[in-house]
Amino acid sequence: MSKFTSKGLSAVTPYTPGEQPKERTYIKLNTNEFCYPPSPKVQEVINTLDASRLRLYPDPESSMLAKLLAEQYQVEQEQIFIGNGSDEVLAFSFMAFIDRGDPVYFPDITYGFYPVYAELFGARACPVPLKEDFTIDGRDYDHKDGVIIIANPNAPTGIHCSVGVIEKILQSNPRYPVIIDEAYVDFEGESSIGLLKKYDNLIVIQTFSKSRALAGLRVGYAIASREIIEDFKRVKYSFNSYNINAVSYLAGVAAMQDRGYYMQACQRIVRTRENTANALRDMGYQVLPSSTNFIFVRHAVLSGETVYSRLRKQGILVRHFAQARIGDFVRITIGTEEEMEQLLKELREWVE
Ligand SMILES: *Cc1c(COP(=O)(O)O)cnc(C)c1O
Repeated sequence: MSKFTSKGLSAVTPYTPGEQPKERTYIKLNTNEFCYPPSPKVQEVINTLDASRLRLYPDPESSMLAKLLAEQYQVEQEQIFIGNGSDEVLAFSFMAFIDRGDPVYFPDITYGFYPVYAELFGARACPVPLKEDFTIDGRDYDHKDGVIIIANPNAPTGIHCSVGVIEKILQSNPRYPVIIDEAYVDFEGESSIGLLKKYDNLIVIQTFSKSRALAGLRVGYAIASREIIEDFKRVKYSFNSYNINAVSYLAGVAAMQDRGYYMQACQRIVRTRENTANALRDMGYQVLPSSTNFIFVRHAVLSGETVYSRLRKQGILVRHFAQARIGDFVRITIGTEEEMEQLLKELREWVE
């Protein structure tokens, strides 16, 4: 920190992203990226890009992308807000709906950025413990006095919560936005988008980073009432009007036009996940039930830290969180069939 750092910023503990190592090639199973390339349509758009167009600012409304998202999710175009990754959409939610000192509620085990944003924007983080089995008890969110954020499916557990439970939480908190972060919903979960017709306090956030293989381009979006979307735009036009760059925009549009490709690839990942999970269970690991492109896994005796560092030595990167309740686990992103074979081979050797 410099001698000029503000008090507010000095008090923040920033988010630690998963490693993106450069010193050697790892089998990279640590940041939940899609293991297959983006759709051929996206590759074509990128490969044939006319660089002279980059002279101009992009469309600040990302209109074509918003239109395609609206069509796919059967909402009005005015119900879509597009951000520079869903992380930006989440950050804008704090700016739009939470004043300094306001409480914000989210599970104790969830996406690590929620408490970071709470600190950065001066909100009061109120973690709500998940049950012993890491599922949500909807009653824990009865009549809260602030914004609620729930990742569904949750990360890093991979566990999915039923839309019925989400609906009860929406009903019980009509005075506050309930944000459902659906970063992984395309793999197997059940989206809450259908509830938008009934609940004006619902905000669904999704991303192109996980199920559309575009983590490197940074595109995420919110779907909510027109009024809530106006609030997001109010933040954006007070912060960075051109938040979506021209290349990401074009690639995002192309990705929307090849839904079949992504659906098939997601199904393939789910099959690999189930095969991997079964193999690990046979080897005595505990594997939490996942609805995502990753699994959360605990060895019978080895600590999470040990599993993580042994795999790292063998060239396989997974994620370990040195955090209460989950220190014994590692999170393993589902890679290609070959990558998972490598992982299992490595782990089998330990058994012997
Ligand atoms: C990866 C992830 C995000 C962030 O996605 P970006 O769109 O890449 O910013 C948000 N929420 C959860 C739960 C995630 O796992």
